[in-house]
Amino acid sequence: MVLQENFRRVEPYVPGEQPKDNNVIKLNTNENPYPPSPLVTEVLNGVSGNDFRKYPDPDVSDLVSTLADYHGVDKENVFVGVGSDDVLAMCFLTFFNSGKEILFPDVSYAFYKVWASLFNIKYREIPLNDSFEIEPEDYFTENGGIVFPNPNAPTGLALPLSDVESIIKANPNTVVIVDEAYIDFGGESALSLVDKYSNLLVTRTFSKSRSMAGMRIGYCIGCKELISVLNSVKFSFNSYTMSSIAIKTGVASVKDDDYFKRMVTKIVDTREKSKKVLTSLGFTFLDSSSNFIFAKHREIGGDELFNALKENKIFVRYFNSPRINDYLRITVGTEKEMEKLFAFLKDYIDKRQK
Ligand SMILES: *Cc1c(COP(=O)(O)O)cnc(C)c1O
Repeated sequence: MVLQENFRRVEPYVPGEQPKDNNVIKLNTNENPYPPSPLVTEVLNGVSGNDFRKYPDPDVSDLVSTLADYHGVDKENVFVGVGSDDVLAMCFLTFFNSGKEILFPDVSYAFYKVWASLFNIKYREIPLNDSFEIEPEDYFTENGGIVFPNPNAPTGLALPLSDVESIIKANPNTVVIVDEAYIDFGGESALSLVDKYSNLLVTRTFSKSRSMAGMRIGYCIGCKELISVLNSVKFSFNSYTMSSIAIKTGVASVKDDDYFKRMVTKIVDTREKSKKVLTSLGFTFLDSSSNFIFAKHREIGGDELFNALKENKIFVRYFNSPRINDYLRITVGTEKEMEKLFAFLKDYIDKRQK
């Protein structure tokens, strides 16, 4: 036996680039272009080093009860973690344990595949239909669990709640995770179904709609039994996942609902305006309910546009994968950022077509 044979080897998830250069127009990782609530900054201004002397509250009670109140559920229905990536990884580890294949869409959040490999979970990717939509009936089959984002990423398309419910209903013996990373920007949440189905988990994040990607806060909501089992696994792994600061700033963000809703509305307005401009520039796109638009140009390839934009310090996301390699995933930035993007594209397309 050689040393290397005992290593656990995985093909890691590759996140979008985080350039060191601050002059980049960064539309590549679906971050929020606006700052978080001023209440979050207020918390940070009041922080002293002594606040970190002790371990944080392992139950994260303040944040859990704030989120429970916000969503009108009990605190036993809420599980929090270090971003929804942490929450999702814990869910995979806890619930996808039957030995049977788990199911998720072929065009979807690329991390699902990585966690499945990491935890030795068999999986099957279910192709989206030709319109890039999830077909609920495809999930009415034997499985070891189901996970999909709603709205889906990178398509931005929302699945109607009745279709989401049909998937949950058809699979009473496996856990169905609805990843609602983008739900604040559009679509109907499955949270209203948590009371009705004991196999449903809804995950959420502070990274997109709450402008707090760097603070790493995520959570999920489900029936008490699921949350209790999830907590047992978490406490068997690391009791103190969230920092004291993350907990405090998370509470502050949730308390400022008015600010939160105003920022989300701004992004949704910019998204809808951007759709019109993209059409005028010769792009077609899926009708996004999220804070990004998945678009392709009538004539120019996705990789060409991606590189041309990058050279001009405008970063968008490009996936060199089958079915989607002509598309760009463009995060909705500020009005000004979008104007710069569109000015560049217009100029580039005009010159190229001469
Ligand atoms: C961004 C994203 C996440 C993870 O976000 P965190 O920053 O880890 O909370 C999860 N699922 C989807 C579909 C995402 O786009």
